Amino acid sequence: MREQIGIVVQLQEIEIKINKIKAALEVIPEKMSRLDKAIRDAEQGLEMKKSLVDELKKKYRLNESDYQANLSMLGKSQEKLAAVKTNKEYQSILKEIDDIKAKNSRVEDEMLKSLDVIEITERETVTLRKEFLETKDQIDREKEIIGKKIEQSEMDLAELDEKRGSISKNIDKELMLKYNIVKGLTKGTAIAPALDSICRGCDMNIPPQMYNDLQRFDSIKFCPHCQRIIYWGKA
Ligand SMILES: [Zn+2]
Repeated sequence: MREQIGIVVQLQEIEIKINKIKAALEVIPEKMSRLDKAIRDAEQGLEMKKSLVDELKKKYRLNESDYQANLSMLGKSQEKLAAVKTNKEYQSILKEIDDIKAKNSRVEDEMLKSLDVIEITERETVTLRKEFLETKDQIDREKEIIGKKIEQSEMDLAELDEKRGSISKNIDKELMLKYNIVKGLTKGTAIAPALDSICRGCDMNIPPQMYNDLQRFDSIKFCPHCQRIIYWGKA
């Protein structure tokens, strides 16, 4: 029995390692999608800034063509001014000219302001592009590391699975069955050492007679509190 217990303990250690690796693998897809989202967010921020620059430039060009149109209207009005016959007509064209000039001065102000905003926004775009590239670079590296980790984990898992298989073959059928049942009950470890009259699976006291019996290793014993298979830990 002592040898059998030793093998089951080994089996449990292997299974704990397997579970740990599987748990680590399980959270990877979520981590990957978080990383992908970070790239997408950075890219989206950059794209939004770029389209803002495009929009501002479009608005600037519209103002520019307004400005040109006003200039040609101004030219025509000035031509008309040379040909007027009445004072009333003269005054009316002068007003027309003033109106156009005032309008164009507003357009000009707006264009100057636009140029400033375009310059600032373009600078922001450059910064965002730099940040995006850095983020992408960093995340690509992280993903590469994760990829390698997955590869290694899968290799480790295959190796551990094989070990588990060959170890299991050497375990007595009844003990194996009980081990599996307890494992299902505790949803964790199924075998624990007892040391100084305490079950190390649940940290509760074991009756003295049972603790003494354990030292003989002559039968499978269960902790009366947590139902784990227990064995004398000082063996
Ligand atoms: Zn216990």
